[in-house]
Amino acid sequence: MEFIDLNKQYKNHKQKIDQAIQTVLDKSNYIMGDEVKLLEKKLAKYVGAKHCIACANGTDALTLSLMCIDVKKGDAVFVPSFTFFATAETVSYINATPIFVDSDPKTFNMDLDSLEAAIDAVKKEGILNLKAIMPADIFGQPVDYLRLEKIAKKYDMKIIEDGAQGFGGSINGKKVGSFGDLATTSFFPAKPLGCYGDGGAIFTDNDDYEKLLRSFAVHGKGSEKYDNIRIGMNSRLDTIQAAILNVKLNLFKDFELTRRNEIAQRYNEQLKKTVIIPEVPQDYYSSWAQYTIILPNQEVRTKLMEALKNKGIPSVIYYVTPLHLQTAYANHHNYVDLSNSETMANTVLSLPMHPYLTDEEVDFICDTIKEELK
Ligand SMILES: *Cc1c(COP(=O)(O)O)cnc(C)c1O
Repeated sequence: MEFIDLNKQYKNHKQKIDQAIQTVLDKSNYIMGDEVKLLEKKLAKYVGAKHCIACANGTDALTLSLMCIDVKKGDAVFVPSFTFFATAETVSYINATPIFVDSDPKTFNMDLDSLEAAIDAVKKEGILNLKAIMPADIFGQPVDYLRLEKIAKKYDMKIIEDGAQGFGGSINGKKVGSFGDLATTSFFPAKPLGCYGDGGAIFTDNDDYEKLLRSFAVHGKGSEKYDNIRIGMNSRLDTIQAAILNVKLNLFKDFELTRRNEIAQRYNEQLKKTVIIPEVPQDYYSSWAQYTIILPNQEVRTKLMEALKNKGIPSVIYYVTPLHLQTAYANHHNYVDLSNSETMANTVLSLPMHPYLTDEEVDFICDTIKEELK
């Protein structure tokens, strides 16, 4: 059994995917081909944003978004500590200061009370400029953007949605990628919508941002190709990856996202009496980038992982180290208590999750867990 079975997905749709790749090879338009433009249109329509700008990966999508709103040295950007490294790394990379915020163990997402406490503390200190909030839709579940937008407005801050894991999720039908001033996603192969290498995209309704992002992503280009009017970077999505994504987006819309939700339901039903299962609030829809349970403590988790492994079931700890405890941030100043993130790191466990898992496989995983923890 695979944790995320990309090979099964490919084998199921080999003909369509091979055909899409072959078309690009036949045309040999490897950079900025028609497939990229088509994908941007389809993605923007799907998430309900005015613009989609494809780029090289989800990390660049965050960096470009920060550049677009002119985040710089002296600016504070509020990020969760319980996330993938890139959410904070990109802030540090452009010489601004990430401010770590604690997370809610129920949703795994940024705790907005902790966020307000962090904002107040930074404001009181009076050194950093309150610039932006960059939450991540952890494990596929959207952050509470309704409340977050109120907080951002109150302090006149921008929101960048890190939707690397959330693509396909929604709140009341409003999709991930349409929240905040800018939203990003990643097409890393293991994400809900993945390509066959690296890829990413940025979404925005703002026409000025769109122009800026297209310039920043191609060496700060002006209206002509060799007229460079600002310092940018080289961050484009390959035509081959766009062609693959055009096929995979259809599969994602037609059944993969629904199947992910069916699998999560099946896990929930069978595991709810045995472990703490992920909570999805009413009106929220998750893309289930991960299906993550919480165990009583680290010892129980280690034993369970071992029992699963003995039955050939892979499981992974996302995230084993919260960002404020990473070596790179060892000397970083924190403004709020981050103990929920630490407890989560010690007790979470992600189970196999991909749309090609069979009901029998899910049942086998659940039976193994119930047997071990009874
Ligand atoms: C995967 C991920 C990223 C980075 O995406 P890449 O395409 O790997 O650069 C950023 N943020 C979060 C929350 C992620 O899960």
